[in-house]
Amino acid sequence: MSQHPTLAFIGAGNMARAIIGGLISNGFPADKIRASSPTVSKLADLASQGLFVSANNNEAMLSADIVVLAVKPQMFKAVLQPLAITAAKNKPLFISVAAGITSDSINQWLGGNQAIVRCMPNTPALVKMGANGLYANSHVSQAQRDQAERVLSATGLTLWVEQEEQLHAVTAVSGSGPAYYFLFMEAMITAAQKQGLTKEVATQLTLQTARGAAEMALLSDIDPAELRRRVCSPNGTTEQAVFSFQANHLDTLVDNAMQACASRSIEMA
Ligand code: NAD
Repeated sequence: MSQHPTLAFIGAGNMARAIIGGLISNGFPADKIRASSPTVSKLADLASQGLFVSANNNEAMLSADIVVLAVKPQMFKAVLQPLAITAAKNKPLFISVAAGITSDSINQWLGGNQAIVRCMPNTPALVKMGANGLYANSHVSQAQRDQAERVLSATGLTLWVEQEEQLHAVTAVSGSGPAYYFLFMEAMITAAQKQGLTKEVATQLTLQTARGAAEMALLSDIDPAELRRRVCSPNGTTEQAVFSFQANHLDTLVDNAMQACASRSIEMA
């Protein structure tokens, strides 16, 4: 295999485009990427960047080293079954970004004995700030794990879990996590407006504070609990807010929400 594997994207919507955009801006050659989707006219922008595009999934995956499955979960069975003959011949690495579809189902629809990496991405992938949880089935070699990691790190952080069931917890943390932070931002913006700030000022201060806190925690080797303690001077203003959150059991609220999320993920699998 040459330095850059050949990649085929089956489905070229938001998630596929987030990965393709990240790869190209990292210097991955566009002519090593193929994309397929039923309406080829919708792929004109990708073709103009040098990608091979097709309305035929089998044609796109022909001789690909890695096939990224990026269609909606409910489409998987119908899209994968017609790929089984090409899969048996080529034996590419399959990377699925679909929520809730198990590697066993994917393997079965592709005819069996296929190397499959499942990735639970999140939407900040669109701004290359994603957090991806990855799981590899037993057919995936170490070289293929390395390749999957290189491809998906085009959208952000990649971390492996060793048991497929752990992807439910990944869904509860990072897959759905952006929405929790958006909800918290909404609440802060509303509260700041009640205290007299304009919506614009409240929004800008809230967003920059979220970014600053995340950046500080990422750059520091001190854990978030200690960082929080250090911002709380005894009898100061921040301490009053933190006491209020604790008295209202923020930890229980978060625990309940993440359990509800993981339970729904298990139900949907
Ligand atoms: P999307 O609707 O934007 O893209 C789906 C693509 O599939 C479209 O390009 C569509 O034309 C194409 N398609 C439809 N039928 C097809 C067929 N028969 N053959 C080939 N292509 C076909 O969806 P998306 O948001 O990019 O989602 C793709 C996958 O990514 C989903 O499985 C979803 O679960 C996963 N995802 C997860 C997250 C997350 O936050 N965890 C976020 C986004 C996407």
